[in-house]
Amino acid sequence: MFHIDFIRPHSLNEALDFLTEHGNETAILAGGTDIVVDLKSGDLKKKYLLDVSRLEALKGIEVTPEGLSLGAAVTLSEIYHSKTLARYAPALQKCASSFGSQQIRNVATIGGNVAHCSPCGDTVPPLVIHEAKVVLVNHRGKREVPIEQIASGPYACALPTEDLIVRFLLKPAPNVDFADFQKIGRRKELAISRISMAAMLRRNPDEGSIDFIRLGLGACTPTPQRYQAVEEHLTGKTPNEELLWEAGNMLTQQMFAITGRRSSAAYKEPAIQGLFVRMLYPLL
Ligand SMILES: Cc1cc2nc3c(=O)[nH]c(=O)nc-3n(C[C@H](O)[C@H](O)[C@H](O)COP(=O)(O)OP(=O)(O)OC[C@H]3O[C@@H](n4cnc5c(N)ncnc54)[C@H](O)[C@@H]3O)c2cc1C
Repeated sequence: MFHIDFIRPHSLNEALDFLTEHGNETAILAGGTDIVVDLKSGDLKKKYLLDVSRLEALKGIEVTPEGLSLGAAVTLSEIYHSKTLARYAPALQKCASSFGSQQIRNVATIGGNVAHCSPCGDTVPPLVIHEAKVVLVNHRGKREVPIEQIASGPYACALPTEDLIVRFLLKPAPNVDFADFQKIGRRKELAISRISMAAMLRRNPDEGSIDFIRLGLGACTPTPQRYQAVEEHLTGKTPNEELLWEAGNMLTQQMFAITGRRSSAAYKEPAIQGLFVRMLYPLL
């Protein structure tokens, strides 16, 4: 067993004051589905556990003038049941449907998923396609950082210990007519993603060509990436089978350009390409 002092602040200011003074010795707790595992295994040793799961400032899903705003302590179950997300971020909502188990979804939060910085975090590809900004606060004030900059490497959070993620600001899906999230795991249920993928796109109603597309790939690179070259390649073109295989191959090559060809390449190359074609096949 481990010994740790449990603190539940009543307000955001109280939480920030605590982090200012004790950030180095503190683990932030939201749903606990990652951090409690790390504390129990002894991989993480901290003096304090700061429970932010009940802070109002970290709750709620709403459309604001700045974008679609999601609190860091919003759970995967809340994402799954949100009508707002069904309309404005359908790929994120779909990702919640295959996330862990019901028990995990009821407590696991989007903030915890992002801050844990696992390359396999399922909410990350949907956040990337919505060009999400992470809203951070500390005792000096508030700032926004692109989702791609939160991790400095696998399981390595780039945030100073005095920072708290309060919200995510997403660009709402601009009248997309296709959005999806799919993942490949070692088994059907309760599987950590070996590859995950999110996409949304809008087609020209007259010509059927792609007007707008965003792609996100998970569990493939140490930190989250945009795949702009592939998006640009597909924009203005009408989807056919050959184009999908070609773009799937481009996606794989862009990923290898970041990671190098590792031993897993023999599996990942056809699997990413195949997943990409499978996901976008309904467009044909
Ligand atoms: C059985 C099981 C199945 C799982 N299945 C999946 C799955 O399908 N897909 C998937 O992606 N993950 C899965 N996970 C991993 C985990 O559930 C998720 O990563 C989850 O979203 C973590 O959220 P949490 O609220 O539980 O985070 P916590 O464990 O509370 O915290 C995780 C990390 O984030 C930090 N943190 C939390 N909130 C904040 C904040 N507001 N600001 C700054 N830092 C913060 C914590 O300090 C900690 O470092 C699974 C885990 C288990 C045990």
